Amino acid sequence: MGKAILYDATLCIGCKACEQACSEQNHLPYNETIAAEEATSEHKFTSVLTRGENYLRRMCMHCEDPTCASVCPVGALRKTELGPVTYEESRCIGCRYCMVACPFSAPKYEWGKVLPGVRKCTMCAQRVAAGQATACAEACPTGATKFGDRDELIAEARQRLAQNPTQYVNHIFGLSEVGGTSVLMISGVPFERFGMRSNYVQEPLPLLTYRVLSRIPDLVTLGSVLLGGVWWITHRRAEVAAAEGNATKPGEKEPETEKNP
Ligand code: SF4
Ligand code: SF4
Ligand code: SF4
Repeated sequence: MGKAILYDATLCIGCKACEQACSEQNHLPYNETIAAEEATSEHKFTSVLTRGENYLRRMCMHCEDPTCASVCPVGALRKTELGPVTYEESRCIGCRYCMVACPFSAPKYEWGKVLPGVRKCTMCAQRVAAGQATACAEACPTGATKFGDRDELIAEARQRLAQNPTQYVNHIFGLSEVGGTSVLMISGVPFERFGMRSNYVQEPLPLLTYRVLSRIPDLVTLGSVLLGGVWWITHRRAEVAAAEGNATKPGEKEPETEKNP
């Protein structure tokens, strides 16, 4: 059965214990400066955003049908049966297609390294495979971040929304966005307040790509679409490089962007 994380923003107190636990789990630096960074980065896999008295965690959403894995030419990213989307650095050739393809801007590049790779939350895949909860869920003092079976967490989220309709926005983020994700979020304020987009497609993006291609009748048109795709990816790579190039060192902020899938 697929595992998942349910993040209930109404229970979050912004203590950032999840951030600290994540850094320890992944042998990453963590200090006051990094705690103050709102964007995820190659040295910060999860971030707690603050808007007044409201909070929202950001991290890789562990899509049920991840575009990052579908565009990776060498299979470095993979959706596992248990839920985590894992990354195998030894396979990675550094093309950064995953960064371009991800609708949540989750993968980050190690621009400052001689042999850079891609970094993102792995949903603590090794812990999950060993039957443990993710480190962030284990560390959360309020139960705002909860680990469990995806089906059971969806039922629990529905129950919380039904029992407290005035306390929550009536939406389980990740239930159907981009075909569903293994990170589910519920909140008392609109997700848009934290810079999230409200118009994610409700079906898997790789499926959309396949449908577009399957409707193209001849090879000439297909060729032009593929060339267009190459231009788009190259263009996006330049954009991602520009956005990330100077702002991913510890202590520096980087703007978090949501892309249009
Ligand atoms: S959020 Fe992005 S990096 Fe994470 S699984 Fe989905 S497509 Fe991949
Ligand atoms: S950079 Fe991304 S797309 Fe390229 S090989 Fe590595 S994981 Fe795959
Ligand atoms: S699941 Fe693991 S890697 Fe992902 S944010 Fe939580 S502690 Fe970090």
